[in-house]
Amino acid sequence: MTKWVYSFGAGQNDGKAEMRNLLGGKGANLAEMASIGLPVPPGFTITTEVCTYYYDHGKSYPPELEAQVAEALARVEKAVGNRFGDHRKPLLVSVRSGARVSMPGMMDTVLNLGLNDQTVEGLAAGSGDARFAWDSYRRFIQMFGSVVLGIDHHRFEEIIEHVKLDAGLIEDTQLSAQDWHRVVAGYKDMVLEVKGEPFPQDPKAQLWAAIGAVFGSWMNPRANTYRRLHDIPADWGTAVNVQAMVFGNMGEDCATGVCFTRDPSTGENIFYGEYLINAQGEDVVAGIRTPQPMSKARAKPGERSMEEAMPNAYRELVEVRAKLEKHYADMQAIEFTVQQNKLYMLQTRNGKRTAAASLKIAVDMAQEGLISETEAVKRVNPSALDQLLHPTLDPKAPRKLLAKGLPASPGAACGTVVFSADEAEARAQKGESVILVRIETSPEDIHGMHAAKGILTTRGGMTSHAAVVARGMGRPCVAGAGGVTVDYHSQVLSAGGQHVRAGETITLDGATGEIFIGAVPMVEPQLSGDFATLMGWADKVRRLRVRANAETPLDADTARKFGAEGIGLCRTEHMFFDPDRIGAVRQMIMSETERGRREALAKLLPFQRKDFSELFRIMAGLPVTIRLLDPPLHEFLPHGEAEIAEVAAALGTDPEAMHRRAEELSEANPMLGHRGCRLGISYPEIYEMQARAIFEAAVAIGKETGKAPVPEIMIPLVATRRELEITKAQVDKVAQEVFAESGYHVEYYVGTMIELPRAALTADKIAEVGDFFSFGTNDLTQTTFGLSRDDAGKFLPLYVEKGIMPKDPFVSIDPEGVGALVKIATEKGRSVKPDLKLGICGEHGGDPASIMFCEEAGLDYVSCSPYRVPVARLAAAQAALSGGADRTA
Ligand code: PEP
Ligand code: MG
Repeated sequence: MTKWVYSFGAGQNDGKAEMRNLLGGKGANLAEMASIGLPVPPGFTITTEVCTYYYDHGKSYPPELEAQVAEALARVEKAVGNRFGDHRKPLLVSVRSGARVSMPGMMDTVLNLGLNDQTVEGLAAGSGDARFAWDSYRRFIQMFGSVVLGIDHHRFEEIIEHVKLDAGLIEDTQLSAQDWHRVVAGYKDMVLEVKGEPFPQDPKAQLWAAIGAVFGSWMNPRANTYRRLHDIPADWGTAVNVQAMVFGNMGEDCATGVCFTRDPSTGENIFYGEYLINAQGEDVVAGIRTPQPMSKARAKPGERSMEEAMPNAYRELVEVRAKLEKHYADMQAIEFTVQQNKLYMLQTRNGKRTAAASLKIAVDMAQEGLISETEAVKRVNPSALDQLLHPTLDPKAPRKLLAKGLPASPGAACGTVVFSADEAEARAQKGESVILVRIETSPEDIHGMHAAKGILTTRGGMTSHAAVVARGMGRPCVAGAGGVTVDYHSQVLSAGGQHVRAGETITLDGATGEIFIGAVPMVEPQLSGDFATLMGWADKVRRLRVRANAETPLDADTARKFGAEGIGLCRTEHMFFDPDRIGAVRQMIMSETERGRREALAKLLPFQRKDFSELFRIMAGLPVTIRLLDPPLHEFLPHGEAEIAEVAAALGTDPEAMHRRAEELSEANPMLGHRGCRLGISYPEIYEMQARAIFEAAVAIGKETGKAPVPEIMIPLVATRRELEITKAQVDKVAQEVFAESGYHVEYYVGTMIELPRAALTADKIAEVGDFFSFGTNDLTQTTFGLSRDDAGKFLPLYVEKGIMPKDPFVSIDPEGVGALVKIATEKGRSVKPDLKLGICGEHGGDPASIMFCEEAGLDYVSCSPYRVPVARLAAAQAALSGGADRTA
């Protein structure tokens, strides 16, 4: 016969914590607490399988259920010494739902079930407190009436108000037994009027109605929505817990409380929580009376801690706290009641906590010996670390929301609104904090983005220029805020009828995508000792190496500080926008002759050589992957008459010719156009100059330090083996020249990015030429889906909302499509070169789920923006501990 009912407490514990799927979280933990000797009022759990049966069988119960419930109830009666429905000594119970995971939206709790017109007298006589008995009865009718019978709670409140008004009273606490008696009469009349039948007096009928209401609530619309949003399958079902009542509201030696075994916001190892004397559960949360602190140390003047008010029960609770933490090896959220100075435990579960608390608790618990170091590594959510590395908005501060966009780069920023990069720079130089607001950003805005405290764009997705660059710089960014309109002309941004002018202040929360009017106070990040400790433990277990995407000395420094083990991607084009270089870059682009280009490139050579020397020096022997010029040329074209005139003068032609040339160079689809290695093939002198700068820098550092760096030169946007062959030959030729000129030889590698489906599918051919692959999953996602990186932000959120795509594929790698190409390329590449070094340098390199994928695909390293390096180190450790994505699914 199937066992549908599991008893707990008073010496019989049929369940245990591991049976959460069958008993729900609450039921499993009640049994577990009772079995380790904690004071749990006796009761029983009706399993989640009954819920499944109920829905599979036209809302009916298994035939054996009634007898099993009766038997379990009889045991509770015997343990307590009271009987259900007994007029003199009535047993009262609570009925609570309890799914595997706690789930708002379902029926929660009915207390004091078993009361009726007779048993209320028994409760009054037994407790010697008629007021308590009638108050309990009215609470029961109210809870049962609203959650089981579905009567609007206002109907109940109206009746209390009416009685209070009549008696000339203000507070509920002033009502006498007689008053509560009148409230009960009013409630019963109202129930009869609304439901057309009297309030049920038979405790058994009350019990079965409450059980039915719990199962019924599993499928109510709110619960369905919650399940859908949190991927909870409907067939999990809920359990029902029926438990003997204990009363925290029977007098001054009674209390009820909710607490955490450690501080859930800081993680501090202190007993944290609140309690109320002479109160029942819902009073603590209802906010009618002010709950008091647990410990004396936490009590402010005028407050009375439980430690002082109820020293014995408090002492017992402190022991329970230690026992629970030792047993569960995690911070617990608990609910308890004290009835006539005796402590009862009503619930325990792993407590929710902030990112900061999660880190501190994991490290402390490992150091206290409660968990292992690897367990601590598993406990902290890598994405939450992001929050700890940037200033965040003070959670207590008031704020006024203007609009919402995409959370493109975490951290909070506050400043005055400016609408151009130049103005951002100019104002920042005067010490002003500014927020750069643009419809979208382009490489020309880099100086302004750098000068700004935060960046807001109204167009573009999570891999738009603004998002990528902001993350790289560690600047908070809200991108693609479609609800905001920007008028450059009148210098105003507007959303929902509200306007903010240039010079007025806004605050961005890059972690949530929210934009606020005015300044919202912030709290600074704490890279405490705990952070470093956890990172150290993570580093011990991870297999994947972690590098950073960096091109400036500042980025490289930051990356090292956060523990990067080299540079995985130096985007050389980002080095071309400096005011003292851009002129020469434009001259190179606009020149119609090779000679003109070479002249311009000669001006750029010393700059590039210095850039690379600095990177090599900062990275001190760690690998540095430098990508040769990649971006579409239009990003460098001069804009406006002044710029055109300047370039024309430098090239010795007239502006008219320059206009023509700009026209010639403009493309309908630059992302699929004349970029990447295509550029290096049409204009070999560009890659030659860059290669020369790299080798000359390497030689110089080698001579200077006695230890030459080993550059990894990377060719972008390769689709065919031949492209790589040609560009590699250019690089090799320059290498030989520089080595001959300098009489110094450095080791180097030439590899390629895999950014196009064709490259992935022919990776065996490409591997014959290249020394390494780095997956450029930004472009690979763009070209696999046929989605524009810069425009997809307009509709991708809708796709995700509608479940067409589980996640934005520019944020988290699409394992089925893009991921399949990565695996094919890995396999084909290694079939030719078993030791082929493989990495990823798209934005996915800093995303925990994608890192899990990389572990499983067998890549050697991930590369991400400097600020995400710690996130990647932790995610890589967790991936190693779980053995990769497929094996954990
Ligand atoms: C990529 O395409 O994934 C990549 C890293 O290159 P970029 O973002 O510079 O195109
Ligand atoms: Mg790319």
